Amino acid sequence: MSDFLPFTRPSIDEPTIAGVAEVLRSGWITSGPQVKAFEAALSHLCAGRPVRAFNSGTAALEVGLRLAGIGAGDEVITTPLSWVATANVILEVGARPVFVDVDPRTRNIDLEGVEAAITPATRALLPVDLAGLPVDRDRLYGIARARRLRVLEDAAQSFGASWNGRTLGSFGDLVAFSFHANKNITTAEGGALVLPDESYAVPCEKLRLQGVVRSGEDGMEVDVLGGKWNLTDVAARIGLGQLPHLDAFTARRRALARHYLVRWDRSLGCELPPEDYANSSWHMFQVVLPERMPRAEFIRRMREAGIGVGVHYPAIHLFALYRALGWRAGQFPHAERIGGSIATLPLFPAMSEADVERVCEAAKRILS
Ligand SMILES: *Cc1c(COP(=O)(O)O)cnc(C)c1O
Repeated sequence: MSDFLPFTRPSIDEPTIAGVAEVLRSGWITSGPQVKAFEAALSHLCAGRPVRAFNSGTAALEVGLRLAGIGAGDEVITTPLSWVATANVILEVGARPVFVDVDPRTRNIDLEGVEAAITPATRALLPVDLAGLPVDRDRLYGIARARRLRVLEDAAQSFGASWNGRTLGSFGDLVAFSFHANKNITTAEGGALVLPDESYAVPCEKLRLQGVVRSGEDGMEVDVLGGKWNLTDVAARIGLGQLPHLDAFTARRRALARHYLVRWDRSLGCELPPEDYANSSWHMFQVVLPERMPRAEFIRRMREAGIGVGVHYPAIHLFALYRALGWRAGQFPHAERIGGSIATLPLFPAMSEADVERVCEAAKRILS
């Protein structure tokens, strides 16, 4: 039998590994020159907008909400079909998540539902580009402008994606990326926040590290409660070694996704992702299984065939923490159904077309 095929695997080249060793020998291993260089490279990708690095995408999201002034009594509209971090950060700042069900075709938040969910307490929209498929930025910012709302884009999965030819992060309000090991570009753990303008830079740096501002040779002041969310130089050096591959990684993901869509047997009754090769970063290739196939059994049998299958994600509002806050089953039927039967198939740049074919054949055997 051939090697186990995981649902994802980072591609880290030898020069990057050597570069990390150099950082480790340099005597400066936490936030320093590598972080500065990584932020500059990210800013370059984002049309020169200011970018600050974090030790997780979650931290970038939380600081994004705090920079937008979101807190107690405020409502933030988001999707129930995401990694739980998306909603957790809203609770973390003391605000209230308002979930709006997804469009079953895109699996992203339904923007018509967003308009209907806006109340006088709504302060911000927190959309997620699930699997790297961008939420419609024209409509999103149209709503935000008309209703005077802030936008914090959870672009954790859509780094390298674009909207009508413009790279995500190069326009808009606040944009958060994640560089977790499974994301399209990684620093092992890490994230970044794209800021609207330079006036946000100092407040952002304060919130990132204990609220501290230094001045002169020995000055230090703290006037706000900050976190401990700085990225290390070791991690930033990994990111610097990843960024030159971004375009090739994205192109490879798109080609593999296209191969899945060509090879997948449509008579099996699965719901396939939208065929977007212009905008999506193809962070994941996900199918919604037909009702007759319990997901746990599919995962088990694919594993027996040497293929890893992931679950991204169960609907957030059905977790015990959220049920305890009042949410219940039946409120967001699309997210609940998709969350209960979605399966993430292997997709990462180092995969071959033959790997895709192997996944398609195993899935066909199991689903037939
Ligand atoms: C990964 C992810 C996050 C959180 O990023 P971390 O770096 O793991 O903290 C947030 N939202 C979405 C949609 C994600 O996929």
